[in-house]
Amino acid sequence: MHAQTDSPSPRRAAARTEPTRTCAGCRVVAPQRELVRVVLDDEGEVHPELASKRFGRGAWVHPAAACVLRAAPHGFAKSFRAEVRTDAARFGVRLAEAAERRVGGLIVAGVGARKVALGRSAVEDAQERGPVALLVAATDAAAALDGTHTRQALAAGRGLAFGTTASLGAWVGREAVGIVAVLDDGLAAAIRHALGVAALGADLARASHLPSRRRPTGGAGRPEDR
Ligand SMILES: [Zn+2]
Repeated sequence: MHAQTDSPSPRRAAARTEPTRTCAGCRVVAPQRELVRVVLDDEGEVHPELASKRFGRGAWVHPAAACVLRAAPHGFAKSFRAEVRTDAARFGVRLAEAAERRVGGLIVAGVGARKVALGRSAVEDAQERGPVALLVAATDAAAALDGTHTRQALAAGRGLAFGTTASLGAWVGREAVGIVAVLDDGLAAAIRHALGVAALGADLARASHLPSRRRPTGGAGRPEDR
């Protein structure tokens, strides 16, 4: 029962192997996998890199509204020690686009690895064999969602909406795909994460079209959301 003190602590070993980076928003040092990498182009624009393919100097930010609002442009400018023109709204647009490309890429990779079933009948067949990790349904799909298993899974909250039948189809080289079943837990987690990032990007982009302080005085307004 005595703790061994003569061997290196496994916690320290784990901390050594897991790369950490500083968030350009909150400046907290966090595991790299919890952050989004961004690169700076010659025009001072910042681009999120969800698949980490582009070379160049990188900075990092939590995929969280509060961190992006602090990072774009000031936190990124500090991280890059350079002028940054990208504000949070524009960053949001790019973040949503990058996250949607990431979801598409994950689905394509899943098809290649047979970790994904496409379309109503394949998705129903997959669920006949057992519960699937995640359903991704096109926002304009109707008939594809009508299978018994699919209806139950969606009602149980195991489905997420993404794209349209045309855009889902385009990713996998078909005219239209209404529903995708993800059969692998790791792939499902990656898709859920990317869809969450896409939703954050869309929120940030939308927020730009609203005046930030519309009400002249406090009154019954909501508390300021930071
Ligand atoms: Zn942060």
